[in-house]
Amino acid sequence: EGLASLIDGKLASAALDSAVAAQSAALAARIGRKPCLAVVLVGDDPASHVYVRNKVRRTEAAGMISQEFRRPDDLGEAELIALVETLNADPAVDGILVQMPLPAHMDARRVVEAIDPAKDVDGLTATSAGRLVLGADGLRPCTPSGCVWLARQALGDLSGLHTVVIGRSILVGKPAALLFLEQDCTVTLAHSRTRDLPEVCRSADILVAAVGRPEMVKADWIKPGACVLDVGINRTDAGLVGDVAFGPSEKIAGHITPVPGGIGPMTIAVLLANTLKAAAARTGEKITD
Ligand code: NDP
Repeated sequence: EGLASLIDGKLASAALDSAVAAQSAALAARIGRKPCLAVVLVGDDPASHVYVRNKVRRTEAAGMISQEFRRPDDLGEAELIALVETLNADPAVDGILVQMPLPAHMDARRVVEAIDPAKDVDGLTATSAGRLVLGADGLRPCTPSGCVWLARQALGDLSGLHTVVIGRSILVGKPAALLFLEQDCTVTLAHSRTRDLPEVCRSADILVAAVGRPEMVKADWIKPGACVLDVGINRTDAGLVGDVAFGPSEKIAGHITPVPGGIGPMTIAVLLANTLKAAAARTGEKITD
C-alpha cells in the first residue's frame, strides 16, 4: 500500500537558510554591516526558551547578528514597550521579534503595535496585516508563509486548488487563508463553529491544520492524494504530536508534514528571510540571488 511522500521541513528550511545566508552576505558587503535580528523573551516559559534558542542559533548560522533580550516575568508592559522603542530607534537593528506568549498581565496587542512595521519580521502588526489584505508588499507572518512555501515545493503552481485551513487565529489560520488566496487557491477558513468539519476537509486539495488539538484530524477527513500541512505542536504523554493523526493519514494523503520536523523549522527559515528582506528594504538595497 502507498504512503504519502513526506514533506521534509528540516531539509527545506536548511535550503532556504543557506540561500538567505548567501544573500545576507552579499547585502552585508554592500551596506557594511550584517542584518540583525533582535529577539525579546519575557518570562520563563520552557517552550519559548527552546524556540528562542533555535532562532538565535539559526540566525547566527545564517551569518546574521542576533541580539537577545531576556526579561523577568514581572517586567511591566510600559518597560517592555520602552525596550521595543529603543530597538525601533536603533539603526543597526533590522528585525524585532517579541516571543509569544507574553505574561498575562500584559496586553500582547499593544506590545506588538509598538513594533516599527519596517522591523516587524513576525508580520503581526496592524500595518503588516493590512498590507497582506491589500496584496501590498510587506512582511508576512512566518508560520503561514512556511506552509505556502512547502505546498509550492510539493505541488508547484497552487492555482485553482481548494485549500481548507482549520483555525482562524491572528498568528496562523487567518493569514494562512489570505496567503493561499494570494496563490490563487479557493480557500475555506474553518473553525470551531464550522458545520460538518470532516466533510469540509474531505474537499481539500491542501489541508492546513492549525488548531492545537492532538491528532484531531482523522485519516477519513483527508481526500486521497491531498497535501496535508500540520501546524499543530501538542505536548502529550506520547511526546510531541501534531493536529493530524499522522500514522493513518500518511496512508491516504499524497504529501504530509511530520511533527516535529515539518512546519516548525520552516517558521524559523521564513523569519530569517523576513529579517533579510527588512534589512534590504531599510537600506534601500535589493536582495540578489
Ligand atoms: P489558537 O488557539 O490561537 O487558535 C486555534 C484555532 O483552532 C481557533 O481559531 C479555534 O476556533 C480553532 N479550533 C479549536 N477547536 C476546534 C475544533 N474542535 N474544530 C475546529 N476548529 C477548532 O492557536 P494558534 O493558531 O496560535 O496555534 C495552533 C497550533 O499551531 C498550536 O498547536 C500551536 O502550538 C501551533 N503553532 C505552531 C507553530 C509552528 O511554528 N509550527 C507556530 C504557531 C503555532 P475558534 O476561533 O472558533 O475558537
